[in-house]
Amino acid sequence: MNSWLIISEQSDFSIHNLPFGSFSTPYRDQRLGVAIGDYIVDLKACAQKGLLHQAPFSVHALEEPILNKWMGCGKDARVWLRHWLQYQLTHADSELHAHQDQLLLPIDSAHLHLPVEIGDYTDFYSSEDHARNVGKMFRDPENALLPNWKHLPVGYHGRASSIVVSGTNIHRPKVQFLPAGSDVPSFGPSKMIDFELEMAFIVAENTELGSHITTDQAEDAIFGVVIFNDWSARDKQRWEYVPLGPFLAKNFGSVASPWVVTLEALDAFRVAGPIQEPKVLPYLEYKQDMHFDVNLEVYLQPDRGAEELISKSNFKYMYWNMAQQLAHHTINGCNVRIGDMMASGTISGPTPDSFGSMLELAWGGKNPITLKDGSTRTSIQDGDTVIMRGYAEKNGIRIGFGECRSKILPSI
Ligand code: MN
Repeated sequence: MNSWLIISEQSDFSIHNLPFGSFSTPYRDQRLGVAIGDYIVDLKACAQKGLLHQAPFSVHALEEPILNKWMGCGKDARVWLRHWLQYQLTHADSELHAHQDQLLLPIDSAHLHLPVEIGDYTDFYSSEDHARNVGKMFRDPENALLPNWKHLPVGYHGRASSIVVSGTNIHRPKVQFLPAGSDVPSFGPSKMIDFELEMAFIVAENTELGSHITTDQAEDAIFGVVIFNDWSARDKQRWEYVPLGPFLAKNFGSVASPWVVTLEALDAFRVAGPIQEPKVLPYLEYKQDMHFDVNLEVYLQPDRGAEELISKSNFKYMYWNMAQQLAHHTINGCNVRIGDMMASGTISGPTPDSFGSMLELAWGGKNPITLKDGSTRTSIQDGDTVIMRGYAEKNGIRIGFGECRSKILPSI
């Protein structure tokens, strides 16, 4: 499939990707677009120009500023639009080609917004290596996983209001914490800010209270996936999480990449997941390959310094896949809604260079990371920017997620 647009082989946004986002420019109000190479296809302009007159869905959903209505149009609509875009972008006699001066704009000229109104947010804890590492550091090195871990995808209900789009910087939060060796809590700026390398999926279906989604049905209820940095305050977390789980250590800002990569684009990158032993309960069993081979990278850029790679992980390292997470989430009758976001939990691989948090990379502070400028880190300092990137590659096809970027600013 060759486009009449010049698209670099290294571009995240190849013709096989076509991720959805929300953008504005000084001349265009906030609206939906699809990234292609160094450009955005303006979907609102396409709809208003009548290019989508053959669409088997109401094109008004594409004239909205965010994705929620469009996600509710369902998978068939999504697949139709994907094929339409691929046709338009590969045929020099297409209407998109003819009107490209109005329908395409350089991606660099656009301001990107959070593309979804997020209803509820859930964070899982589904990477075995991450759960094991944390268990080894804080509990029992011999029995690092808690007894429930291989029987259900552990998760907690988070907070949607503080999820922000890539490029949003976060002030170091003030927290209550228990200083080491003390039994009297202190209050002040967190001394242990950390990133968490995660992927998050977005729900594209409203379900009834009392119903549930099976692992077979789950992927049809998922619109797509973003990279997700779940900023965390470790000093706070340890003090507050007993017995009800994460709270203020996790809700002061989580950052999503702006382009939502659909499951249709990810389909070519399916891989088998790990063998699940002990055997899971029937409602968590699944048939086809539901893990995805997506390379993930974390870069740290000190204030006024150069970015450097500090971790390389992969979405395929998940123990529990998205279908199992959604099946588990709804098996008790809990309904989900269009725009709900569910994050994977920190994604660590099996080797120390693939750990998805500073907590693990610096092993609880015991092995500080040394950066090229000679400075060391056991947590994130003021002025540090964390940049996460992800891409999948196979048989000459490449798709990517763009960036999830956020800087920690001093406490206010
Ligand atoms: Mn998390």
